[in-house]
Amino acid sequence: MYRTHTCGELRINDVGKNVKLAGWIQRVRDLGAMTFVDLRDRYGITQLVVDEKSAESIREKTAKLGREFVIQAIGNVRERSSKNKNLPTGDVEVFLNEIVVLSVSKVPPFTIQDDTDGGDELRMKYRYLDLRRETVRKNLELRAEMAHATRVYLNQQNFIETETPVLIKSTPEGARDFVVPSRMNEGEFYALPQSPQTFKQLLMVAGFDRYYQIVKCFRDEDLRADRQPEFTQIDCEMSFVDQEDVLKTFEGLTRYLFKEVKNIEIEEFPWMPYSEAMEKYGSDKPDTRFEMLIHNLTEKVKGNNFAVFDSSEFIGAINTTGCAEYSRKQLDELTDWVKRPQIGAKGLVYVKYNDDGSFKSSVDKFYSQDDLKVWAEIVGAKPGDLILLLSGDKNHILTALGELRLEMGNRLGLRDKNIFKPLWVVDFPLLEWDDETKRFYAMHHPFTSPKKEDILLLDSDPGKVRANAYDLVINGVEIGGGSVRIFNKELQSKMFDLLGFTKEEAENQFGFLMSAFEFGAPPHAGIAFGFDRLVSMFAGLNSIRDVIAFPKNNAGRDVMIDSPSTISNEQLDELNLKVVIKGKK
Ligand code: ASP
Repeated sequence: MYRTHTCGELRINDVGKNVKLAGWIQRVRDLGAMTFVDLRDRYGITQLVVDEKSAESIREKTAKLGREFVIQAIGNVRERSSKNKNLPTGDVEVFLNEIVVLSVSKVPPFTIQDDTDGGDELRMKYRYLDLRRETVRKNLELRAEMAHATRVYLNQQNFIETETPVLIKSTPEGARDFVVPSRMNEGEFYALPQSPQTFKQLLMVAGFDRYYQIVKCFRDEDLRADRQPEFTQIDCEMSFVDQEDVLKTFEGLTRYLFKEVKNIEIEEFPWMPYSEAMEKYGSDKPDTRFEMLIHNLTEKVKGNNFAVFDSSEFIGAINTTGCAEYSRKQLDELTDWVKRPQIGAKGLVYVKYNDDGSFKSSVDKFYSQDDLKVWAEIVGAKPGDLILLLSGDKNHILTALGELRLEMGNRLGLRDKNIFKPLWVVDFPLLEWDDETKRFYAMHHPFTSPKKEDILLLDSDPGKVRANAYDLVINGVEIGGGSVRIFNKELQSKMFDLLGFTKEEAENQFGFLMSAFEFGAPPHAGIAFGFDRLVSMFAGLNSIRDVIAFPKNNAGRDVMIDSPSTISNEQLDELNLKVVIKGKK
């Protein structure tokens, strides 16, 4: 037996016991007469001690120990003379009788403690050492706990956990596919799933009724803090349900997770139509932890000879509480901020509502105090507030104001990460027009059903058709999304037409789904949650990398195993492939 106890287990009532522990050496403190060794494993840290009364051989062995050696420690539990209240095992120590070195270690490239001195790249290269740190491991423990709770909830609700294949054919979810060459089928490729979308729908045709899977998905996109080329979804599908049934079930799951894992009771989630989210928050994933809503001032501000406003399609404003004090410098800096290419506004108009009830604005030449008072009333400003206005094309300005709102929310400390405000965003448009390619794209995916009452618009005004699609948004983060599906071959085929597929292309790529619909498909709907995002939100982190055991870096590389990499000529031969890199000899 390697150990009788873990390093986090011994307490005062274990005093007197002979124990065996095993773990890694956190540090050795040689005080001359006494040497203390902190022994660490996943469960905690226990202090080991040798002193003048210890056998010479033990003292010699202890002197040779180094950081991160793996040892077995055998000894007797005794009460500490100076206790460490910060450590659960801090009342006791183990007086060593024997040490067995199981593994030696080189000096680690960074310190294995919460506030490590290791930079990002170094920690990723030695991720197995990084994972020894308690803060990092805790995130993965949280992840495991949440996966477990998810299974408990969904199993209770009669969902069948079903695996779907990883080597498939491309499913268009709007991203690029990762592809895998097939050795046995020369010149042909599998694609890795962007999601199990078509399979879960086929499981509904198969009569599974309720399916789920905690599943890896792959999308070849540019990376950001909340994106990885491979990521995990809680993927679900249900039969004989409408939108409300799905939202109820997954609101239930979300609330269950908050309660089980964080002991937080969350109220019923509000529903907000997409159009309202865009008009009031300038985003389809509104952060509803704070108000600061967008107001439309277009009608009120036009016609005063201020050319910038007169020539704009839309003029919108937000009110920032208590910011009338902003200095010239702060306003200039904010103006620069909205002019950055990411926001792309041409300029910023401000109105200060002074404490004495007067107004000071950057457009005083064009607007009277009475005019400004009307604006203040519309946006709900009080003395001491600062009103910020942007103007231009409606859609662009709404998004820009949405970004400005989040920025001001950050500056005013309104985005507390310990407060959770989930909501359902519903009634998304079915299609999105792309000016560059001059065609419609599915806003969610091509299997999403239009709202019944909008089906007639499919021919006359497709851009106006709303979908039975929904997103779960928490604190401005899109945690999940799904839709009620098309389950009829004709409608599905019409969707592919609208999306610019030829009959042959549609048949080639999705013939299997459309023919399944000819064998009795039940009405069905589903959803998928981004599991990494959900866990990182529960952990209070900004990046999903911190909740993934072995993540990729921003260039999509795993720097530990050094992947992606070239493959050998033998492998290429077997695959009948030849690598030609365009533009290179
Ligand atoms: N397959 C969709 C996605 O990955 C989710 C769904 O519609 O259920 O976003």
